[in-house]
Amino acid sequence: MSLIRHHIDGREAGAAERTGPVFDPATGVQQHEVAFASTAEVEQAIAAASAALPGWRATGLVKRADVFFRLRQLLVERQDELAAIITSQHGKVLSDAKGEISRGIENIEFAAGLVHLLKGEHSEQVARGVDVHSVKQPVGVVGCITPFNFPVMVPLWMVSSAIACGNTVVLKPSEKDPGASVFLARLFEEAGLPAGVLNVVHGDKVAVDAILDSPVMKAVSFVGSTPIAKSIYERASSNGKRVQALGGAKNHMVVMPDADLDSAADAAVSAAYGSAGERCMAVSVLVAVGDVADPLIERVASRMAALKIGAGTDASSEMGPLITREHRDKVASYVTGAAAEGATVVVDGTQAEFDGDGFFIGTSLIDHVRPGMKVYEDEIFGPVLSVVRVGTYEEAVELVNANRFANGVAVFTRDGRTARQFEFDIEVGMVGVNVPIPVPIGAFSFGGWKDSLFGDSHIYGPESIHFYTRSKVVTTRWPNPSESQINLGFPSNH
Ligand code: NAD
Repeated sequence: MSLIRHHIDGREAGAAERTGPVFDPATGVQQHEVAFASTAEVEQAIAAASAALPGWRATGLVKRADVFFRLRQLLVERQDELAAIITSQHGKVLSDAKGEISRGIENIEFAAGLVHLLKGEHSEQVARGVDVHSVKQPVGVVGCITPFNFPVMVPLWMVSSAIACGNTVVLKPSEKDPGASVFLARLFEEAGLPAGVLNVVHGDKVAVDAILDSPVMKAVSFVGSTPIAKSIYERASSNGKRVQALGGAKNHMVVMPDADLDSAADAAVSAAYGSAGERCMAVSVLVAVGDVADPLIERVASRMAALKIGAGTDASSEMGPLITREHRDKVASYVTGAAAEGATVVVDGTQAEFDGDGFFIGTSLIDHVRPGMKVYEDEIFGPVLSVVRVGTYEEAVELVNANRFANGVAVFTRDGRTARQFEFDIEVGMVGVNVPIPVPIGAFSFGGWKDSLFGDSHIYGPESIHFYTRSKVVTTRWPNPSESQINLGFPSNH
């Protein structure tokens, strides 16, 4: 069985002293071992990033940008290869894997504009003969820790901007589907990135802690579940680092009585069951306002019956398996437990049968869900859609705003005034109006509120340039020596 190793200073590295299994979720068969880094191996990667920093920082901006233009081209040319790696280790269908690559390419396109993005500001003559300008300098070595569900897009959210800003990186991808990140690191180098600028180490808490505790590491970007995001934020910030730690979600889709119910049902099914619900922006709660619940549920259930679930490599599959057997069983437990909590299981995906030993589960729809039930409170991260019935717009807003998660939300309506008011009232980081998965384009930034993000910067886009740089402000004067004098007063510009 092949071993997936670390990528440090442009080379494969890492012994197989501690390893973890990498499965093909469609067959349930282990296909690789992945090396788990020791503290010493992470330190080796940090040392490589540190050694590469002065050279990369000094590289001209136009030359830096060239890497991103070439990388974009290489990714387009080799997307089939990369999508195959994603599907074989994550399980998502190939078209979805390509969608993820295409969204990751947006981050590369954004980073390719670095000559513009890194421009500082200049004020001439703030006092007689005095000018002020600001520059954005890299923070240094950056740690990036990523989840299993987007093994290409989420690393690109982070590393594209971090590298564009002149930093060097140690990336610790999910140990469940680590192959794509090594492929990405090699592609970056093929595009001209010097060895040591992007290093990849695999592993578990040991590797993560070595990143969080290293005095060399200046900033940490994390995406994953809320409990881990919170602990990463606390540990890294108490170690004096900049941290952005994006957590889990429970995304609501509010359907108003005036909405087009066929479009809303199409959107709900796509956003709840796409990628088997393993998206942080998946819709997991349908909030049915007024009398829309019954006709909406009927439409959603009839669409669910037609969904094709199967191996991601089969072009006819619309939904693949879950990431692990344990996760599949956990998702199933929410569905089987829902009736005992007083909810109504309209479609029970745990009863679906599949050939073989893959980590498949059918799609579930649960009605009469209420706050307080586990099926409502927890992030399930599987193909389970709950319906909460409310009487009014105000009740819908109150429900969403009371939730501890606040990543994404959507409203479906044909009334512009309702949509505008919703945008104003709702306490969630990303809002869709008749758009169920409102992941912002790469030129904007991505981030939730409350328990969906710890830290004050959103990820990728303009906020990432702020996160990955330190600004320096320079005040300049070229005095005529004859005007020089001693003045112990605080310098005033008035
Ligand atoms: P996870 O939190 O289990 O793992 C994320 C990363 O943290 C992995 O690299 C993992 O190896 C590491 N990790 C796990 N346990 C750790 C520990 N105890 N100490 C230190 N590091 C640890 O998340 P996951 O299951 O890989 O991904 C799914 C989660 O990610 C979901 O909750 C989902 O909502 C969230 N997610 C959020 C966003 C977002 O933008 N907010 C995007 C994608 C995924």
